[in-house]
Amino acid sequence: KVIIDEVKPVVVNSVDRKPAVFVPVHRKSVIQKARLKLPILAEEQEIMELISQNSVVIIAGETGSGKTTQVPQFLYEAGYAINKMIGVTEPRRVAAISMSQRVAEEMNVSNEIVSYLIRFEGNVTDNTKIKFMTDGVLLREVQNDFLLTKYSVIILDEAHERSVYTDILIGLLSRIVPLRNKRGNPLKLIIMSATLRLEDFTENLRLFKTPPPVLKVEARQFPVTIHFNKHTFDNYLKEAYNKTVKIHTKLPDGGILVFVTGQQEVKTLVQKLRKSFKLRRNVAKTQEHNSDSDEASEIEQDLKRTLKRKKIRKVMTPVNLDDYSIPGDNDVETESELNSEDEIGEIVINTSKPLWVLPLYSLLPSYEQAKVFREPPEGTRLCVVSTNVAETSLTIPNIKYVVDSGKTKVKLYDKVTGVTSYMVTWTSKASANQRAGRAGRVAPGHCYRLYSSAVFNDTFQEFSVPEIQQKPVDDLYLQMKCMNVDKVHNFPFPTAPDLMQLKTAESRLEVLGALKNSKVTSLGRAISKFPVLPRYGKMLALSHQQNLLPYTICIVAALSVQEVLLETPITQSPEEAKNLRQKWGAMRRQWAGVGNSLLLGDPMVLLRAVGAAEYANTDGKLETFCLENGLRHKAIIEIRKLRVQLTNEIKMNVPDSDIIVDPKLAPPSDLQSKLLRQIILAGMGDQVAKKIKQEELKESEDKIKLKYAYRANNLEEPVFLHQGSVLKKTLPEFVVYQEIYETNKMYMRGVTAIEPEWLATYVPNACHLSDPLIEAEPRYDSNNGKIYCTVSGTFGPQAWPLLNVEI
Ligand code: ADP
Ligand code: MG
Repeated sequence: KVIIDEVKPVVVNSVDRKPAVFVPVHRKSVIQKARLKLPILAEEQEIMELISQNSVVIIAGETGSGKTTQVPQFLYEAGYAINKMIGVTEPRRVAAISMSQRVAEEMNVSNEIVSYLIRFEGNVTDNTKIKFMTDGVLLREVQNDFLLTKYSVIILDEAHERSVYTDILIGLLSRIVPLRNKRGNPLKLIIMSATLRLEDFTENLRLFKTPPPVLKVEARQFPVTIHFNKHTFDNYLKEAYNKTVKIHTKLPDGGILVFVTGQQEVKTLVQKLRKSFKLRRNVAKTQEHNSDSDEASEIEQDLKRTLKRKKIRKVMTPVNLDDYSIPGDNDVETESELNSEDEIGEIVINTSKPLWVLPLYSLLPSYEQAKVFREPPEGTRLCVVSTNVAETSLTIPNIKYVVDSGKTKVKLYDKVTGVTSYMVTWTSKASANQRAGRAGRVAPGHCYRLYSSAVFNDTFQEFSVPEIQQKPVDDLYLQMKCMNVDKVHNFPFPTAPDLMQLKTAESRLEVLGALKNSKVTSLGRAISKFPVLPRYGKMLALSHQQNLLPYTICIVAALSVQEVLLETPITQSPEEAKNLRQKWGAMRRQWAGVGNSLLLGDPMVLLRAVGAAEYANTDGKLETFCLENGLRHKAIIEIRKLRVQLTNEIKMNVPDSDIIVDPKLAPPSDLQSKLLRQIILAGMGDQVAKKIKQEELKESEDKIKLKYAYRANNLEEPVFLHQGSVLKKTLPEFVVYQEIYETNKMYMRGVTAIEPEWLATYVPNACHLSDPLIEAEPRYDSNNGKIYCTVSGTFGPQAWPLLNVEI
C-alpha cells in the first residue's frame, strides 16, 4: 500500500478568485474502474459546486449509488482535509467501521488517514483526514467543542434512518454552521439520505430558514418485480426458508438476500439453509476464513448425517422462470405444496449447486461482514440472510432476488412508565420498498414478499416512526441542558419528541438531582460527563469513596451491555439443555453469596461473573468458561472495553483518582456490598417496587396469582422478579430494578434489595417528609456528633407511607 502521510495540494486551475485545489489520490486501477460505474461519479462536479456555494446541502440517492464511499473522497480531493478533518457520522457501528475500511482501501491509504471512532474503540490518529464515527460520538464531541473546530465538513449519513442522535445533530448543526460562518471559519454540512421523506429536513423552517438545496443522485435502478404472497403466514421464518429453497432450486443464477428481524433468526435460518444446500468440503475449505471453523465442522457433521439419512423425501426439479415470475398473487399452488412440510428442516433437496449462505447483522465481527462483498466460490450461489442492516447502510453486490419477511424488531418503550418490550412488527412501506430495491442493482430483479398485498396496503405505515419518538430521552435532555439549550421543547428537532416524553425525562432527572427547577445542577454536570445513561452516571458520580469505583464501574458496564447472562443453552438435546441450565443456576446462586452480598442481587451476580470470567481469561480460558457457565463471550469483552473507557474517563474528570482496572475484581466486602446497594438506589430511585403482602389481597385466587408479586411505584399492574433473579427465594420487601419488560407478565430485571429507610436519604426528591422542626424531637448522638430526628412521610407518586424515618 502506498501511504500518503502528508497532503500536498496541487493547484489545477485559477479561473475563480479562489484557486481550486486538487489533492491527488493514487487509486489502484481495479478500484478506479469500479468507482467509474457508480452513478454518483457523474455528479461529482455538480455536488462540489453546490457544496462550495452553500453551507448546507442535502444529497439524496438510492442505496448503492456511492454516497458514503465517494462523497468523502470528493471532499478530500477538493482540499477539505488539508487543515481540518472531514467528519462522517453513521447511525450504526457496523457502517462506521466497514465504510472507513472501504474508503481507506479505495484511496489506497492506511487507517491512520481514513479512520473510525465508535463508543468502545477506534483507530483515529493525529494524521486522520477522514473520520467515520457513530452519531453518538459526534454528539459527545459537540459537548466539549461546540463549534466542532477540528472539522471543515460534517457529513451526516443515513439521515433517513432518523436515529435520535442524527436528528439532534441536524438540529445542533443548523445553529453551529451559521456561527462558524460568522466567525469566518466556515463549516459545511452535508446531509445524506436515501430518497425518503426529505421534507422533514427541507420544509422545517425552524431548522433551516432557507431550505437547503437537494441534489438527487439518479441511480441506475433496474425494474424489480414484486411478488406478494396470497396468504400471510405467522411463521415467516419457515416461509423465508421455503421461498429461498424455491428460488435456489427453480430460478436462474443471481444472489439472494433474505430479510428477517434479528441476530437469532439470522443464525437459525443460515444454519437451516447451510444444512440443506451443503457445500462440498473442498469448496468450503478454500474459501473460508480461518476463524470460521464452525461452518467447516458443521459441514463435516452434516455429511455424516446425510450418509445415515438415505431417504430423500422430495426432489425438486428446475422449472422455467416464466412459470414463476408473473407479478401478483401467483404463489398459491407452490405455496400449498411447500406448506405441507411441517418442520423447516424436513425438506431434503436434490440440487447439484451449493448455496453460499452468509449471515449479516450489526454485532457480527467485521471480517465476517466483509465476506458478503466478496465473490462467492466458483459454482455456488450467494445467499445473504440479514437483519435490516442490508436495507440501506450496506450494499451487497449482485443481488437479484430479495425475500422480504416484512418484519422488523422494535424495542417499544412506554413513555410514561418506562416499561420496555421487544416486538416484531410489520415494517413500513418505505422500508419494504427499500428492501425490494436491493434486487435491482445489477439487472432486473424479483422481490418476494412473504405477506399479501392486502396486508401491505392496509396494515403497513407509510414511514417508520423516527427513533426519537420511541425512546426515553433522559440522556439527551440532560446533554442539551448542559449545552445551555434552556427550552428543550423549542429545540429545532426534525421531528419533535412529544411533550409528555420531555416532561417525564425532566421529572426523572429532577428525582436524580441532575436538574433543579429546570436548571442543571453541579451533580447534573458531573453525571453528563459519563458516556452512559444519567442514572448510571449518578452512580459513578457517587462512588468516589470506600474504593467503590471499580465495583460501580463494573456494575454500570455490565448493566449497559445486553444479555450478559444467557438464559437458554444452545444445544440439540433437551436432556443436555436441562443439565446445563441447572449448572448455570447453581453457579449463579453461588456468585450471589449470602447476607449483604445476596441482597445486592442481580448486580452481584454480574460482578462475580465478570470477575470469574476475567480470571479464567488470564489462563486463556475465557471462551470455554463462558460456554460452560452461560455467559455471552462477546458481552464479557464489551464489558471489559467499557470498564477501561469509564476508568479513563474518571481519571480525566477526577484528577486525584488513581483507580486502575483490575480485570479480576475481588468480591466486595460486606460493607461495600451495602454501600453499593445504596448507590444503586441513588441511581434507580424512581424505579422502586414493594412486595404485595398477602393480607392486602382479598380474593383467594389473587393470593395464589400474586404470591410473588410486587407493586412498582409508578405502575398499576403487578410486577414480578424475572425468572433468573437470585432474589426469588428471598423476596425482599423493597427492591429497585434496572428495567421492567413485558412478555406475558411484567418482569423486573436487574433487581437489588433496599431498606425503606434509605429512601429519604438517597431519593429525597421523591419523598414528602413531615417538617422535622414541627413534628420530631431531635436526638443528639454523642458518638458522631450528629443530630437525628425521626419524621414520617410518603414516597413516590403512589404515596407509600414511610413511617418513622430517621434523618
Ligand atoms: P450509498 O452510500 O449510496 O448507499 P455506498 O457508497 O455505500 O453507496 O456503496 C457504493 C458501492 O460500493 C456499492 O456498490 C457497494 O457494493 C460497494 N462497496 C461498499 N463497501 C464495499 C466493500 N467493503 N467491498 C466491496 N464493495 C463495497
Ligand atoms: Mg451509504
